[in-house]
This record gives sequence, structure tokens and C-alpha cells, in this order.
Amino acid sequence: MTKIPERINLANLPTPIDKLARLSAQLGGPTIYVKRDDQTGSELSGNKVRKLEYVIHEALQQGADTLITCGGVQSNHCRATAAAAARLGLKATLVLRGSPAAAVAGNLLLDRLLGADIRWVTEAEYRDHRHDIMDNIKAELSRQGHNAYVIPEGASSGLGAFGYYSALAEIIRQEQEQKVRFDAIVVAVGSGGTYAGLLLARELLQTEHKIIGFNVCNDAAYFRHEVEQILQASSAYLAAPVPFAARNTHIIDGYVGRGYALGRPEERQFIHELAKLEGILLDPVYTGKAFYGLVQEIKKGHCRELNTLLFIHTGGLFGLFPQGHEFELG
Ligand SMILES: *Cc1c(COP(=O)(O)O)cnc(C)c1O
Repeated sequence: MTKIPERINLANLPTPIDKLARLSAQLGGPTIYVKRDDQTGSELSGNKVRKLEYVIHEALQQGADTLITCGGVQSNHCRATAAAAARLGLKATLVLRGSPAAAVAGNLLLDRLLGADIRWVTEAEYRDHRHDIMDNIKAELSRQGHNAYVIPEGASSGLGAFGYYSALAEIIRQEQEQKVRFDAIVVAVGSGGTYAGLLLARELLQTEHKIIGFNVCNDAAYFRHEVEQILQASSAYLAAPVPFAARNTHIIDGYVGRGYALGRPEERQFIHELAKLEGILLDPVYTGKAFYGLVQEIKKGHCRELNTLLFIHTGGLFGLFPQGHEFELG
């Protein structure tokens, strides 16, 4: 058995798996289950905490007293990092893309309440210089006697991907306990680490699950490249390289809509319908788009070879509130 890197314990695991009986019947397609990774915690909720368990283990090993990371104004990853830092008695510095005039709501409100130090950067600075900006902050903190650890966007490093290696291992145990087998596992793709981790686990644990991703920004080709890079970096933690099999990558493009974090009426309507039908709240940035995409694909008849599928609810609830005024509730 391959030796997996060590981690700390932050998330509430295992997360439950729920069957969406009414939606499945309505669609007349595969039986859809949801893995509730929106329930990995409260302040820490969502998929990022699984990755942070590995990444922060390394930070602590290196004697870090501060975590530096980056994301959009409503980044779930930044909020989870701020929460984890506060839990562990560390400091967090967040490089946020946007303007200090942003409404203090949703995740940003929580970042502030959790005591994170926020540094604002423009869209262009973020795109072109975020790595340098974070390294400069690390150097600045070092001059003040601190030891900071830089976590890349989404904690989608080679190490962070192991968070979804262990998630797939958890899913396999649940398949045995609950006497169900999932033909496919479906997830939103934002920075690629979650998807990469699932593929990593598929290779290492030798399972047959089809891993389907819906990108919520950029395009499928971009993410195939990202996932390959992440897996290469993951290999450095293992005795042998992880083969990247492009044929096992299924990233479905076409559901970015108006762009990252920008919603469309049909997506919001779908979030509303699912909430009423199944009592599950999706977020507008990731899971709302990915699940909407999945349902469109099922309706187009593209999922006929699948009997059961597991959608991973990767969280993001706090991001719903700042977009509340955009919902037409009738
Ligand atoms: C970050 C995020 C994702 C995407 O995960 P990546 O590993 O960045 O691809 C999906 N859903 C939610 C709610 C997220 O916050």
C-alpha cells in the first residue's frame, strides 16, 4: 500500500451520503446521491477543509505561525483558511481579488470576524502576480519575526489534492456499508484540486468510478492541464509517480454561463427548485452551476450508461447570501 502524507484533523468526517429519490424519479435517469461535504464543518464547511488538513499539517511541521492564501472576495477557501487558522491559534493573511468597498457579507464577513488580515488586490494583480504578492507578504512577515506558509489558490497543491484521495477512500467504505455502488462521481471544478484528488485516488485505489467534473470558470482544456500539473506535484509525496491518464478525465465544459461567480436566471431557478424538492441548498458559484450542468446532461441523454451517481456537494452556502437579491422568489 502506498504511503499517503500525514494530515491533521479539522473536518467532521465521514460526511453523510443522501439519496435524492424525488429528483431521480423526476428525471427518470440515474439514481442520484449527494455526498454532503457541505457538512464538513460550520465555519470550516465545504471541500477546502479536506485539503487544508494535509496542507496545514505541512505548515505546522515547518513551524509556521501564519497562513497566507488568496482568492476572490467571496472565497470559500479563504474563509476556511481563516477559520482553521483561528482554531489552531495561527494568524491568517488573505490576498483578496476585489475592492475594499466590497460589502462585508457572506464569506468576507466571516473572514473579518475570524480575525484575518486582508490585503486587497485588483483583478490584474491577482491574475499576473498573486504568487509574488504572497511571497512578498511572507518576506515582510519574516522581517517581523514571523514564519508564514503560503497556500496556493484553493489549496489545490499536490499535497492538498490528497484531501480528495481520502474522500474517495471514505466513499468506498460507505459503498460497502450502504450496499450501493456509484458508477460516477460528479464534482464542480474551480481550481482543480478536488478533481485531481479524486483521479489520484482512482489510480492509487484502483477503482472504476468515472470521475466527472463541471468547470465553473476557464475551460476543459485548461483544467486537464491543471489537473496533470497537480498530479505531478502529488507524485513528489509518493514513492512512485502517479500516472495521469487523460482518457480517465471527464471535464464537461459549457456551464460556466456568464463567468466565474456570475449567475444566470436558469441556474438560480434550479437552485430554488432543488431546495424545494429535496431540502438541499446549493451555492450559486460552484455546486449550483455543476448540478445544473449535470441535470442538463441527463436530460440530453448523455448519462444513459450510468445507473447511480454521486454528486459531491462541496459547500459554499455562505456565498448564497451576498447574491440573495438576484433570486426571483415569486
Ligand atoms: C473551491 C470550491 C469548489 C472547487 O474545488 P476546486 O478544488 O477548487 O476545483 C467547488 N465547490 C465549492 C463550494 C468551492 O468552494
